Amino acid sequence: MTSVGIIGSGFGGIAVAAELLQHGHADVRLWERGDDVGGVWRDNTYPGAGCDVPSPLYSFSFAVNTEWSRRYALQPEIHAYLRRTADDLGITPLVQLRREVVSAHWHETDQQWEVGFADGSLERVQVLVSAVGQLSEPRLPSIPGIDDFEGDAFHSARWDHDLDLRGKRVAAVGVGASAIQYVPHLADVAGELTLFQRSPNYILPKPDGPLPRWWRPGIRLERPLWWTFGEQFSRGLDEGTVVGAIEKRVALAHLHRQVRDPRLREVLTPDYPIGCKRILFSNTFYPTLERDHVDVVAERIVRVVPEGLETADGTVHPADVIVYGTGFAAQDFLDTIDVRGVDGEALAKRWVDGAHAHLGMYVPGFPNLFVSYGPNTNLGGGSIIYMLEAQARHMRQVLDRMREGAHATVDVRPEVEAAYDRQVQERLEKSVWGSCDSWYRHPSGRITSNWPGSTYPYHRRVRSLDVEDFAWA
Ligand code: NAP
Repeated sequence: MTSVGIIGSGFGGIAVAAELLQHGHADVRLWERGDDVGGVWRDNTYPGAGCDVPSPLYSFSFAVNTEWSRRYALQPEIHAYLRRTADDLGITPLVQLRREVVSAHWHETDQQWEVGFADGSLERVQVLVSAVGQLSEPRLPSIPGIDDFEGDAFHSARWDHDLDLRGKRVAAVGVGASAIQYVPHLADVAGELTLFQRSPNYILPKPDGPLPRWWRPGIRLERPLWWTFGEQFSRGLDEGTVVGAIEKRVALAHLHRQVRDPRLREVLTPDYPIGCKRILFSNTFYPTLERDHVDVVAERIVRVVPEGLETADGTVHPADVIVYGTGFAAQDFLDTIDVRGVDGEALAKRWVDGAHAHLGMYVPGFPNLFVSYGPNTNLGGGSIIYMLEAQARHMRQVLDRMREGAHATVDVRPEVEAAYDRQVQERLEKSVWGSCDSWYRHPSGRITSNWPGSTYPYHRRVRSLDVEDFAWA
């Protein structure tokens, strides 16, 4: 039986493990650097952390959760769902916790991956699955003087729950998907809250609310409706579409309804096409900004000084605590692991101008390496779980074929990968993502995070295995 090692036990790792176990691929182990399963849903514990994909859609199709307590569930409930699913499917005993993978080298002679761990130990597997996600490495901004600050500072994905923020002067840097969730909570405790915004976002209203127990069958009914909504919503992510125009109108009307101060409205109005940065959902963010002790600073931060943050206009904004909601090293796919393929080639070198992989999963010259949530598989709308499941099914078909044909290795053909990449990049030219800076883009300018379009075309593309696309040996 082919041995499979999966790096990571978030939604991606659990999707792959579940699919393999259900189809008789039993030699599976998962390496998890944290002390629990859950990935981003374990790590992001900031106040108000939750998912802005409606919960009826946000569970695996093979383990639909009908017990969500609200339409947009919060982090503890999502994490609990993942843990429960891993238990129910027999995955938990296969997870090795506090086992951080630092290297993975392909050994041609015995056709195995040699996986190295932070403690210096080694393991060998025939097939290696990366399920480390795109948003697992918090990124602090490269602002001069960041280490000079004399107060407390932390990143939103490493929230310091021991720090008492009551009455403190808090500086919050960044206004992305994370910040808009914790800013209203921060405002409830902080004495003064100053929000540093580099670029504003389009924010849509969130049809949130509790889901009573009697509505549990209704959660199943809502699921396909939200999926369909997500597919239509994604149309707005291509340039010049009617859907995009409608989304923009709704977002700006939401801003007008919730913010009365014309100066603040102006500061909060984006100047780039809607969807270029991730469209956000919140009913509570805008009203928070009009509270008396909350201020929005749109001046660029030039440096961190011992007593706070200095902006381009020369003002020093004193702070006791800085919260960095500055996102993740999303472009550095698999960068924390030294991955070497055939002839010792480094994956980091191959991807120096931005990551690319056939179907987002397979890299030529890196045999028996499958990447979950890899390049160009992130979404600007809809549920990533749908994508992760589609990928897991494809990987499982590759393993089925290896088993049936007694193949020791599989490697995607370079010309197939190159043609696929060209297609994806051409399709991306229709998207809005080229019109602004965002974490979807590599510094080279390539969009390396996102899948162009809605989720169904991806599902259709990967639902069956084209055996000719690969070299089997
Ligand atoms: P993010 O969306 O990347 O936002 C980072 C914020 O920090 C942006 O406002 C960015 O400004 C700002 N920033 C970065 N460097 C800065 C600097 N040097 N000076 C000033 N501002 C700076 O990060 P995030 O909010 O953590 O979210 C990351 C992703 O995680 C999301 O896009 C989403 O995919 C996922 N997420 C999802 C949910 C959910 O509900 N499903 C919730 C949280 C996160 P610019 O815009 O100008 O770059």
